[in-house]
Amino acid sequence: MKEQMESVILQCSEVTVDFDGFKAVQGMNFKLEKGELRFLIGPNGAGKTTMLDVICGKVKPTFGRVIFSGSVDITKKKEHQIAEMGIGRKFQTPSIFASLTVFENLEIAMKQHRGVFAAMRAKLHSEDRERIDAQLAMIGLEDKGEWRAGGLSHGEKQWLEIGMMLLQEPEILLLDEPVAGMTDNETEKTGELLQEIRLTQSIVVVEHDMEFVRNFASKVTVMHEGKLLKEGSMEEVQRDDRVAEVYLGK
Ligand code: ADP
Repeated sequence: MKEQMESVILQCSEVTVDFDGFKAVQGMNFKLEKGELRFLIGPNGAGKTTMLDVICGKVKPTFGRVIFSGSVDITKKKEHQIAEMGIGRKFQTPSIFASLTVFENLEIAMKQHRGVFAAMRAKLHSEDRERIDAQLAMIGLEDKGEWRAGGLSHGEKQWLEIGMMLLQEPEILLLDEPVAGMTDNETEKTGELLQEIRLTQSIVVVEHDMEFVRNFASKVTVMHEGKLLKEGSMEEVQRDDRVAEVYLGK
């Protein structure tokens, strides 16, 4: 039992979000184990993005609790505090510095994490360079460190932003449709990157691309009208009549 508790990295209990009388999320329970690559799916308006907003502190639930790392109640914490505690959020539009190089973008992310913005011009130690080089290799941009980030392809920009997140050492990564607009090849590479990341971190992905979910999900959570509709393996979820109804009825 204790071991089971320790493997839970995030627990959302009875989360409800009321936007001026409209319940975008209602009594949602969501538990994430360490090392999971979890996909959150459901039709438009199901409340998926709002759930990510609650977890990262952008939206405060009107009811319910969010517990991080087994015992830390983050329900009322501010967004920046939650980020510092180790929950990173990536939105659909990459927030990279287009006029800086790929390497410089990663450098900024690393320094930002260390809280040394004031020392931006401080020399990089060799171990810092090695760390950034390793990150460049992990995201498949080892040959593009000196490229201007604005000149990267759409997929490469997404990977750069994931690399920037990783240098901030999150325990959980929250990703909003990371493969939207990617080529098939980029989508495949992104799936492989997420598989590699989950060896050390936990990931929640809001996703519409069902083929991507099918290929890479360990577990899927289906939301509908702000509520949990079904949870399980992709096979279990696909076999569920209610899930089929929700998708076909779209
Ligand atoms: P999904 O990500 O599953 O498409 P969302 O979480 O974005 O769904 O939205 C769930 C519902 O909440 C939608 O009906 C949406 O219009 C509504 N909603 C989202 N954000 C707000 C907001 N800030 N104010 C009012 N309604 C909102």
